[in-house]
Amino acid sequence: MSLRRCILLLLDGLADRAHSVLDNKTPLQAADTPNLDYLAKKGLCGLMHAARPGVPLPSEIAHFAIFGYGKEFPGRGPLEALGAGIALTPGEVAVLARLVSVEVKNGGLYILEDKFNITDEEKEAIFSAIPRVSTEEIEISFKPISGVRGVLLLKGKVSSHFSDIDPLKKNAPVFEIEPLCSEVATLKTVKALKDYLIQVWRTLEKHPVNEKRRQKGLPPLNFLITHRAGMMGKVEPFPERWGLSAATISSGVIYWGIGKYLGFHVEKAKEIGNVAEEFSWRLKRLRELSDGFSFIHVHHKGPDEAAHRKDPVLKKQVIEALDAVIGENLDWLTSPENLLVVTSDHATPSSGPLVHGGEPVPILIYGAGLWQDKVNEFSEIACAEGALGRIEAKDFMYLILNFLETAVLGGLCYGKVPRPYFPKKTKIFKV
Ligand SMILES: [Zn+2]
Repeated sequence: MSLRRCILLLLDGLADRAHSVLDNKTPLQAADTPNLDYLAKKGLCGLMHAARPGVPLPSEIAHFAIFGYGKEFPGRGPLEALGAGIALTPGEVAVLARLVSVEVKNGGLYILEDKFNITDEEKEAIFSAIPRVSTEEIEISFKPISGVRGVLLLKGKVSSHFSDIDPLKKNAPVFEIEPLCSEVATLKTVKALKDYLIQVWRTLEKHPVNEKRRQKGLPPLNFLITHRAGMMGKVEPFPERWGLSAATISSGVIYWGIGKYLGFHVEKAKEIGNVAEEFSWRLKRLRELSDGFSFIHVHHKGPDEAAHRKDPVLKKQVIEALDAVIGENLDWLTSPENLLVVTSDHATPSSGPLVHGGEPVPILIYGAGLWQDKVNEFSEIACAEGALGRIEAKDFMYLILNFLETAVLGGLCYGKVPRPYFPKKTKIFKV
């Protein structure tokens, strides 16, 4: 039987650093993962980086690169909006915005706290007090997405070429909004957004919910802080670019947004606070959907979340739980019709101040006819000795087409647009 589909098990933020609490091993290296080790032993291994080694990437940019896209990236703001079902029309700008607690220091805003215990009533009251402004040229409004996070939608003669003001940590100053070019629309957008955010801060500062929180010794939710603006553009759908019908089984609006944007079928998975049950459900859905698609992305963000809690031991346990679920599905995953890939989007260090790490991630590819190299274990260190070597994410989809045996010989062009895959339908040479 020939390979019919690629299954990409993407374990978010899997790669890490060495930790003394784990005998100077990474969480993946220290974890007991008999099933991933088996796949590594029987498969082809290597390392991958979605951009250039050393650069820590966010999930969305890494995913874009792995799926074979680059400059078409529209920004995280519009993708989250799309994933959350907020319709953006062409020319509108979306920028991520979240509530934080600030105070004034040296004439500027300083973040005191960015994680809160708040009741739904408090959140509702604060959200409904966030103003909507409309000038002759620019309209700005806030749309909540989840928790204290949402997006600001900017309509009119607007631009997305302005800097981020969120340092993504507390006890840090809020950065000034800077225009990234001198176009009139950019300068006007920066001024309108700055005026708007000051208005939000003044409104929330004196809000009764925040008065009460202060009396109770709780931090006020008195500022909206923004990052990652973007504008939706046109993009070639994944099935057209790679000749594969695609699905994503994931939780989190950003993955749903990426999937919708690139023309994937989006299967919304739930988060219930139990890694094994969540991943089991995803692999069950994978099996149910498998006949309908030739490229299926199954995502779990457990390793990334454990690392963000700066807990290498928890990350090791999460990896072991994921491995056990892979073990329960191993016979099906390794059936001759599947090309199975296990990898990650980026490293997330379980210690230190970095949000993500710039190290490459391990990758294993298992399938009929693939080289079986000398790697016996799935880890960052073991995979460095794999026969795949170190690849860049921009090579990834070409390797998949090659292993699925749909790749076209380089330099040949069938039809009006050169494609890297052999077309299923072409115009026949008429006589
Ligand atoms: Zn990620």
